[in-house]
Amino acid sequence: MVHFIGAGPGGADLITVRGARLLGEADVIIYAGSLVNPALLDYKKEGCQVYDSASMTLEQVIEVMKAAEERGGVTVRLHTGDPSLYGAIREQMDELDALGIPYDVTPGVSSFSGAAAALNAEYTLPEVSQSVIITRMAGRTPVPEGERLRKLASHGCTMVLFLSTGLLEQVEEELLAGGYAPDTPAAIVYKATWPEEKVFRCTVSTLAKTARKNKIAKTALITIGHFLGDDYERSKLYDPAFTHEFREASR
Ligand code: SAH
Repeated sequence: MVHFIGAGPGGADLITVRGARLLGEADVIIYAGSLVNPALLDYKKEGCQVYDSASMTLEQVIEVMKAAEERGGVTVRLHTGDPSLYGAIREQMDELDALGIPYDVTPGVSSFSGAAAALNAEYTLPEVSQSVIITRMAGRTPVPEGERLRKLASHGCTMVLFLSTGLLEQVEEELLAGGYAPDTPAAIVYKATWPEEKVFRCTVSTLAKTARKNKIAKTALITIGHFLGDDYERSKLYDPAFTHEFREASR
């Protein structure tokens, strides 16, 4: 059996209770060493084999899973954040299907949630933005043409960019071409929820400069939009004048 588990964004106590329990049951752990907090390995039982996938290919990962399965062992594949985002889990699941090896997925707290927490922010402020676009800048890994950053930027909603911290000149260009004003609020969140977490508030036109000045080149998220500003409307849900399923308007 293989368990794909979301490790959470960094803080070792931000893994789910289920994820921590399964880590403790694993005979083999394959973890994404470049991004997963090694403190999570403290959950492992004695004698558990640990592999860092940072230097492994898909084929090698599958080989380790297959060998564990043949011994009747439990494998945990530990991915950073939530495995469904940039986790490359689909290709692993397809290989396991082909080999007849059973698996399941335990979700995790994604780093985009960790970043909102670091910012004390709400991505979906009433009358400001009710949508969050999660994407990345095209780099060595291409992005489908229909999802070019400038096209997505044209919505003017909240955006969270993964895997783009090394490409901030192009990011700025694309965001401006898409219609964000240069002074639109933005923030770079480095290592959200890790002990070394850092938050840099800036604007769309100062993203690259801010990252350069603070020597941030990776393990960061770029958040963009007026959710970082001061203006918004109160929610209807908690408005005394608004009636809904659970509460009558009181005025
Ligand atoms: N599945 C992960 C994302 C993996 S892609 C998730 O749900 O969070 C790796 C990218 O995620 C990094 O390049 C960085 O952009 C972002 N990232 C991961 N952990 C982060 C953290 N703690 N703080 C800021 N960004 C993070």
